[in-house]
This record gives sequence, structure tokens and C-alpha cells, in this order.
Amino acid sequence: MEFKRKLPIPKEIKELYPLSDRGIKTRQECVATIKGILEGVDSRMLLLVGPCSADREDAVLDYLQRLKVLSEKVSDKIYIVPRLYTSKPRTSGNAYKGMLHRPDPSGEDDILKGIIAIRQMHLSAIEEIGFGCADEMLYPENHRFISDLLCYVTIGARSVDDQQHKLTASGLEIPVGLKNPMNGNLDALLQDILTVQNSHLFLYRNWEVESEGNPFAHGVLRGYVDHTGESHCNCDASGLALACRKMLDGGVKNPSLVVDCNHSNSGKDYLKQVDLARNICALRREGEGGLRETVKGLMLESYIEDGKQEEHGAVYGQSITDACLGWEKTEKLVLELAELW
Ligand code: PEP
Ligand code: MN
Repeated sequence: MEFKRKLPIPKEIKELYPLSDRGIKTRQECVATIKGILEGVDSRMLLLVGPCSADREDAVLDYLQRLKVLSEKVSDKIYIVPRLYTSKPRTSGNAYKGMLHRPDPSGEDDILKGIIAIRQMHLSAIEEIGFGCADEMLYPENHRFISDLLCYVTIGARSVDDQQHKLTASGLEIPVGLKNPMNGNLDALLQDILTVQNSHLFLYRNWEVESEGNPFAHGVLRGYVDHTGESHCNCDASGLALACRKMLDGGVKNPSLVVDCNHSNSGKDYLKQVDLARNICALRREGEGGLRETVKGLMLESYIEDGKQEEHGAVYGQSITDACLGWEKTEKLVLELAELW
């Protein structure tokens, strides 16, 4: 490879684009609230909702403004944390890798501009809208460019087996949701959660570092893919009961699950998220098999327009990665979930 240019370190980028004192407070409250839900002292649903990829700041902020109004309406039952995913793991060839790589989805790849763009978007979400947000920690070494802004991260289904992801997650002060691996192995997921909850001495960005262990590491069920390539749901009654049992018997701190209603759970049919979300609320209310104390929240992929478009499509507010529920359907569903939780 060609070493093209040396980039600023996270500390330098943070100093150039700092979070205000008010923003620091907003974020602290958000992190504390999510921890309260995972500890079980706050019984509201944690709802991680937003586009599969946050591709352009104007449409994302427009979406967040709508979401803020909605979040205030349901705040006694649901705590909303937007997903602003700025790095995308792609399974096929040279597809769009997110705003970190390509700050303007119709422009060229540019990592320095990408770092600044993702920091500015997460900053605007906190400062202008008052939302602390979630992202996927796709590249552990890049996390610190936005570590002071994020309130929650996931480790994706394609990364969760990777040691560097887990060791880094063990040193984060925010909750980390570990997706189940692509093959759906729940024993592996349990071991991954235990690894993140432990303390470790390791090498990170050319430093010897020691982590404290992250007691807020928990599982995110996203469905799985079998050896023939077919997708299956792992959030029906038996799937949830099995996953809850593993968490409750596995010796993890704050045993918790979030259910991702898209991806392999919906077979990427974004409309199925509606029935899956309703059904999970109903199963949780029945409360069998420890569901009520373990299932703490849902994840939905949602944006302004329904569905998805081609990578270079110009439709404002429509996903260029996984298909999403549009705004109207999202609003209707979230209002309904507030009644069902
Ligand atoms: C996502 O949340 O958009 C995603 C890529 O999820 P997963 O890692 O579960 O495929
Ligand atoms: Mn997705």
C-alpha cells in the first residue's frame, strides 16, 4: 500500500471541533439513562433507531428533528437513541463504506474530510438537536475521533469475533451492544460479552493500555445466516427464550438483550420490522423465560423515505445501504410501541 498522508490524531481533531459544556451535559445524561435501562432501574424501552447508514448531514438532521418531537411524546415509555452509523462493513466488493470514507455520498473517498464530517454530524446531533447518539465501532482505532460524543456503540455481526474489537470495547465508558455473530452462535456471543466485561492489558494505537472491563456490554439479536446462505430470525418466542436463558445463566453483569428488527431477523424485508417489533413487545409482556427482565430494547432501521436506492441515487432521505422504514411508518410504529411496551 501507499502511505498517502499522515492524519491528525484524535486529540487534535477533538480540539479543533470541541463539544460545548452544555453538550457534555446532554451526553452524560444520555449515557446515564442508557446505563439505568440496562441495569433495570429504568423500565423504559431503549430504542436505537435511524438509518442503516447516516449518509448526508442535511437529511440526517432533518430526520433527527422529527425524531426529537416524537421522542418527547413517548418519553415516559421509550428512550430514543438515534443510530448515526458512519462506517459500514460491506460484504460485497467495493460498495459504499459510510461517511467516514466518503463524506459526500456522490463525491470521492476522502478520509480526512470524512473524519471531520462524522465528528461534525455527531456534534450537531448533540448541540443542535439535543440527541446523544449511537454508532457502530467498525474500526476500533478510529473510535477516539468521536469517543467524547457517542453514547452507545455496537460491534457488528462481522466484527464480533475479533479480539481487538472486544478488548477496545472493554475499555469504553459507554454501553456496548454486541451483535450475535453471522452464524447465530449464542454461546460465542455469551463468551464475547464476558470478554468485554473483563479487564485486559493490551496494545492500542501504539500504547500499552489497561482496560477496566465494561459491565454494560450486552447482546443484540440480529438474526443469523445458515450454511446455505439463508437468513433466519432469532427473535421469535423460542429464540428469545433461549437467548435470555444464556444471558441469565451465563454470569454476565447486567444481563440484557436488544433486538435488532432488521438484518437477518427481517430477511432484509424492512416492512417486517413492524410486526417483529410488535411481537417482541407482546412476548416481553407475557414475561416468560426471563424476557421481561432481560429484553431491554429494540433496534429499527428507519429514515425519511421508505426502502433504499442505488448508491449514487439522489433521493433525499432514502437509504443507500439496507432498506429502511420511512418516517410516517416509523412515527406510527413508535407511538404504537409506547402502548405495547
Ligand atoms: C447494521 O446495523 O447496519 C449492521 C451492519 O448490522 P450487522 O452487523 O448486524 O449486520
Ligand atoms: Mn443495516
